[in-house]
Amino acid sequence: MEHRENGEPRTYGNLIAGEWRAARGGGTFDSLNPARRSEVLGHFARSGELDVEDAVSAAVAAQPGWQRTPMPLRAEVIARAGRLMEERKEELARLMTREMGKVLTEARGDVQEGIDMAKYMAGQGRMPVGEVVPSELRDKRCFTERVPIGVVGCITPWNFPMAIPCWKLMPALLAGNAVVLKPAEDTPLVAIRLAEILTEAGLPEGVLNLVTGLGEEAGAPLVAHPRVRAISFTGSMEVGNQIAATCGKLGKRVSLELGGKNAIVVGADADLELAVDGALWGGFGTTGQRCTATSRLIVDQSVLGDFQERLLGRVARLRLGDGLDPATDVGPVINAKQLRRVHSYTEIGRQASARLLVGGKVADEGELGEGNFYWPTIFTDVRPEMRIAQEEIFGPTLSVLPAQDLADAVRIANGTRYGLSLSVYTKDISRALWAVDRLEAGIVYVNAPTIGAEIQLPFGGVKGTGNGHREAGSTAFDEFTEWKTVYIDYSGRLQRAQIDTEQG
Ligand code: NAD
Repeated sequence: MEHRENGEPRTYGNLIAGEWRAARGGGTFDSLNPARRSEVLGHFARSGELDVEDAVSAAVAAQPGWQRTPMPLRAEVIARAGRLMEERKEELARLMTREMGKVLTEARGDVQEGIDMAKYMAGQGRMPVGEVVPSELRDKRCFTERVPIGVVGCITPWNFPMAIPCWKLMPALLAGNAVVLKPAEDTPLVAIRLAEILTEAGLPEGVLNLVTGLGEEAGAPLVAHPRVRAISFTGSMEVGNQIAATCGKLGKRVSLELGGKNAIVVGADADLELAVDGALWGGFGTTGQRCTATSRLIVDQSVLGDFQERLLGRVARLRLGDGLDPATDVGPVINAKQLRRVHSYTEIGRQASARLLVGGKVADEGELGEGNFYWPTIFTDVRPEMRIAQEEIFGPTLSVLPAQDLADAVRIANGTRYGLSLSVYTKDISRALWAVDRLEAGIVYVNAPTIGAEIQLPFGGVKGTGNGHREAGSTAFDEFTEWKTVYIDYSGRLQRAQIDTEQG
C-alpha cells in the first residue's frame, strides 16, 4: 500500500460503479497527520452534488443484482474481506495512526473490530432471516422475512475510521443493499483502503460506492437524495439532528449514533486502584475522542481525596506523543479546530470556578508543537450543571464531581441530555445491580470503564444520543432491512381472516 508517488502524496478519487474517479468539479482536499501537520497523507476528491448523483445512480443500478445473489454468497465476500483485513492488519493500523493519530495498539484494535465484524457477518449469512408463524386458517402458511431497503447512505466520523464503516457497511451489504459511503474528511484514506479491500474481495461494481468530501458538500446531498432510502449516521448531535430533520421531511429512514457525556460512578466501597485504571483508560484512551469516552468521574465523597491522589499520580506518568512510538500513551487530537475547542472548554471550566488539577494547556514543547497535542486535563470541584459536566468535549478532559452516596451519584450520572455509556465501580453485587437498574444509558458497565464495546452485542444510546436504533450484535440488521410478511393460501377457496375461523 504505497501512499506516495515519486515522494509526493498521491491523489485519490471516488469509487463509483467500480471505477476510481476524480470529483466532477476537479477539487481536492488534504488529509494530514495530526501528530505532524506537515505530513500530507494524500489529496482527496472534494465531491459535490454531481458526484453524489453518480454514486447513487451506480448503486441504484447495481442493487437488484446484488439482492438476487444468495445471502451465503454475499457473506463469502464479507468473509474474504475479513481475511484480507487480517493479512493487512499491521499496515492498516499504521496508516490509521498516521491519519487519525490514535496510538498503534488502539489502531490495531480498531482494525480488529472490523475483522471481528466481518467474521460475525460472514456467519450471519447462513442464519435464519425470518420466522414461520401459525395461521388461524387451514391450509395457509405464514412467514416473515427480512428484505433489503435498497440504497443506503452511510456517513461516518473520523474517530473509528475502520470499525465504524465496517459496523455499517458489512450488515448493510450482507442484507442485500447497495451503499454509498461518505467517510469523515479527516480520515478518507483508511476508508479508501477498506473500499479497496471489499472490491478485491469480490463485491460487484456499484454495490459499494464511496464519495469523499466535506459534510455540507458531499454528506448533505446524500441525505437529501430521493433514491437513497435510508441514512445511517454516526457523528455529532448537531449534525445528526439536522440530518434527522431532513430525513423526517422526506419520509426517509434514519438511524443516529450521536455523542455521549459518559460517566464512571466510583462507589464508597470501590476498588480504587481498579477505578483509577478505568478512569485513565476511559478518559485518555484515544485521547478522549471516543463517543463512549469517560468524561465525568462521579466519586463518593468519602473516598474522593484518596481517589484523586491516586489518579493524579498516574496522570503525571502519561506520555504524550506520536502514536507510532511504542512509548506513547496518549496521541494527538484530530485537528487544529478540535484542539481549539478542547482548550475553549478549559477556559469554560475555569470561568465556572471548577478547580484545574492538572493539564489545561496545549502541548507545544519540542516536537509536540508540530502536531495537535493537549495535556491530559482534570478538573475537580465540578458541579453537575457546569458546561464542562454537560457538554461533550471530545478530548482529553476529565471532570471530577463529588457525590453524597450511590443514589446521588446515579442521579448526577443521569443528569445530562446524553445516554450512551455509564459505569459503576463497587465490590457489592447488590449495589451494582441497583445502579444498573437505574442508570439511563444504552450501555452500562460494572467495574470497567465506559469504553470497551464488543461487536457481537448491540451498540447505541438512549435520550439525545440516538433515535432508538442499535448497531452491531443481533440488532445489526434492524437498521438495514425491512420486514416482509408473506401469507400463502393453498386451500383453493376464499378464506377470510377473523371471519371464517372455525371454533372448537
Ligand atoms: P461530525 O458530526 O462533524 O461529522 C460526522 C460526519 O458527518 C462526517 O463524515 C461529516 O463530513 C458529516 N457531516 C457533517 N455535516 C454534515 C451535513 N450537514 N450533512 C451530512 N453529513 C454531514 O462528527 P465528527 O466530528 O466527525 O465526529 C465526532 C462526533 O461523533 C462526536 O460527537 C462523537 O460523540 C460522535 N460519535 C458518536 C458515536 C456513536 O456511536 N454514538 C461514535 C463515534 C463518534
